Amino acid sequence: MDFTSSFRDPKIVANLIQKIKKTITRPWVIMEICGGQTHAIMHYGLDQLLPPEIELVHGPGCPVCVTSLELVDKALAIAAHPDVIFTSYGDMLRVPGSKDDLFNLRARGASIQVVYSPLDAVQIAQANPDRQVVFFAIGFETTAPANLAALAQARALNLDNFTLLVSHVCVPPAMHAILGSPNNRVQGFLAAGHVCAVMGFWEYHPIAELYKIPITVTGFEPVDLLNGILLTLQALEKGEAAVQNAYPRVVTEHGNIHAQQLISTYFEPCDRNWRGIGMIPMSGWALRPEFSRFDAEKRFKVEHIQTHESEICISGQILQGIKKPNQCPAFGTICTPQNPLGATMVSSEGACAAYYRYARK
Ligand code: SF4
Repeated sequence: MDFTSSFRDPKIVANLIQKIKKTITRPWVIMEICGGQTHAIMHYGLDQLLPPEIELVHGPGCPVCVTSLELVDKALAIAAHPDVIFTSYGDMLRVPGSKDDLFNLRARGASIQVVYSPLDAVQIAQANPDRQVVFFAIGFETTAPANLAALAQARALNLDNFTLLVSHVCVPPAMHAILGSPNNRVQGFLAAGHVCAVMGFWEYHPIAELYKIPITVTGFEPVDLLNGILLTLQALEKGEAAVQNAYPRVVTEHGNIHAQQLISTYFEPCDRNWRGIGMIPMSGWALRPEFSRFDAEKRFKVEHIQTHESEICISGQILQGIKKPNQCPAFGTICTPQNPLGATMVSSEGACAAYYRYARK
């Protein structure tokens, strides 16, 4: 199977668009959960091919965007420590904290390194035994296994200078928060294919039943996305609260059991603050107490951080599907990728960055 070009085939795309047009009888609001899906939709112009009755709204599935301001400020406090080498994926460096960002802190001399894998951070810890190396472990269910594989590697190497600043969040509690809100507009979900590759989609059946909405596991190529939209639309038109899998070449009902075992070995569920959205109970993962020596928040004692969020930024409403980026008065004026006021304008998965890049003004 060709995993790229056949999923971008213009003939198949045109055929799916025709099927969608024939199926739809009334307006529907569908949320793609993942920021990667948002960018793919904008990149391929799929939103402009769909009939106007389908409104796509953009969900909270961008890990950089939802990492709480408090944790960004904690990252800044830890990275400023002279004994620390702070490591992170590149997107996090431009995310605004209350007063600063990691990029500016690095320009002022802090030791902050961009890595492409958490295992790079382990290597840095090995090479610098006299320094504390901290990895900013952000992400959804997708990245948790890789981050924890790095922790397992650090344990195997007996490294006592490696810690994680953990900001892991989980999709199902966020879906509950969106659907349970009095402002909710979402009538169907495209679930994030890579999250489901790890966790499966068994967790979505009770959500679909409770809120009477269809949920379709969806991939990232144009054919994947349109197929996910078509299956969701067919369920909406029939009034079915179906959970369907439009990404079977990657996702199974129960996901990757080995990855889930790694997660449950090291993590336990915790309440977590989502930037712009607020506290969602039991929506995150934290290191289990027996692994607290690998917890950067504990090692560096940064519990009491005062935060200050931009009063202009409406990214919380965007991440819940209530507003679109181009409805923000700051969009493209005082907020741009070069001068972001919110994390959704920074990340390569952020909805504001997608609207800016692909000119949805
Ligand atoms: S355009 Fe900027 S200020 Fe407005 S919601 Fe997006 S990130 Fe926030």
